[in-house]
Amino acid sequence: MLIRKSIAGIVLERNIIGHRFKPNAISFYNYSKSVATEIPVYTEPKINLVGLNPKQIYEVASRIDPKINKFVGNQIYQWIYKKGCLEFDNMANLSLELRKKLGNSCIISYGNVRESQLSVDGTRKLLLEYKSEKKKACNTVDNGNVNDTSEEKHVLGYKENPGDLVETVYIPEVDRGTLCVSSQVGCALNCKFCHTGTQKFMRNLTSSEILGQYMQVAYYMADFDRKENERRKITNLVFMGQGEPLLNYRNLKAAISLLTCKDGIAFPTNKITVSTSGIVPLIEKVATELQVQLAISLHATEDGLRNKLMPINKQYPIKELIKSIRAFCSKSSDKNNRVTFEYVMLDGINDFPGDAVRLSKLIKGIKSHVNLIPFNPWPGTEFKASKKAKINAFYETLSNQDVSCSIRKPRGQDIFAACGQLKSNSLSKQWA
Ligand code: SF4
Repeated sequence: MLIRKSIAGIVLERNIIGHRFKPNAISFYNYSKSVATEIPVYTEPKINLVGLNPKQIYEVASRIDPKINKFVGNQIYQWIYKKGCLEFDNMANLSLELRKKLGNSCIISYGNVRESQLSVDGTRKLLLEYKSEKKKACNTVDNGNVNDTSEEKHVLGYKENPGDLVETVYIPEVDRGTLCVSSQVGCALNCKFCHTGTQKFMRNLTSSEILGQYMQVAYYMADFDRKENERRKITNLVFMGQGEPLLNYRNLKAAISLLTCKDGIAFPTNKITVSTSGIVPLIEKVATELQVQLAISLHATEDGLRNKLMPINKQYPIKELIKSIRAFCSKSSDKNNRVTFEYVMLDGINDFPGDAVRLSKLIKGIKSHVNLIPFNPWPGTEFKASKKAKINAFYETLSNQDVSCSIRKPRGQDIFAACGQLKSNSLSKQWA
């Protein structure tokens, strides 16, 4: 059953999932005029092929039908990742028998859309539900240990849990569309200005769940159906949603590898940005292994203040952070890449002219761009946004020091979708 509400111009949707096997369906109300298709919602355990690489898909398929070869495995992979196919029945170049067998044992699921909100400025926030069998094993912070060989089970259909809910945000602009993806449910780092930081860390998202956020929105924006040379609706992908992506390194890496795989989604690496609060030992790997763009949540120029705003700074102070960023730049294969520094403007805290001067000195010699973010308030926060005049003065000071910078236009504030406002149980509370 689909319930829709419209409050002050915001469209809210909630899907009530029936406890039966037959897939039901929900739609994105008003999401994309060009797409009327619906995505099935599954409630029974089956193997989810989303999140599996070509080798893994072949392994799963050959267990179901030992007659198939790698070529057929690759055909299934392309149906899923290149064409956005959701039904095995539609995989026209597979035998009818194989399609039936796959349908009996596997699903193609991007996760269930539990709620969908549309801001007055066109920003869309989704509350997605993922149910993973590996809940207990996922419930630790991943330090990027590549020796961890524990296997993920891509199975859906277990009891509802707040640890299954996560938010993702699509921000359309005239010349681009940015998808802000989450990497964890909640966050362990407790940055004081961030709404997610008030939500206790519950678990890492699997690579399937990270990828599912992209595929869910790409499907509805008809990106899988676009013609050759036609621009994607999702042009940029930023890991700036809930959680610290580098503390879920293994799954982040697997998801990026699938996003950029030339045989599948083929998302350009220079349009993917991983944003970190400063997990120093893994920053270089963003250049050498992930090979994507880097953004740093900086927000302060002295350890004293940064320790208070971002407790992770006690472990990795500014000097070490800057050193690791310089190492990232020297290892990056594209020397034209710029590191983005995110700087939230907090009234009377970090918005003084001296902060701007220190910031320009700190990042001197690093090819970079500074994003000044007017603070986006959330219920219970102790902070206020800096006055417009102060933000402009800060911007002028940086510009006068030849620092490339801009002031970010807040998007999706009215639905708590703006930077630093995500918290996956906030919507549920509104509906309680
Ligand atoms: S800013 Fe990022 S790292 Fe800090 S609490 Fe929020 S989600 Fe976590």
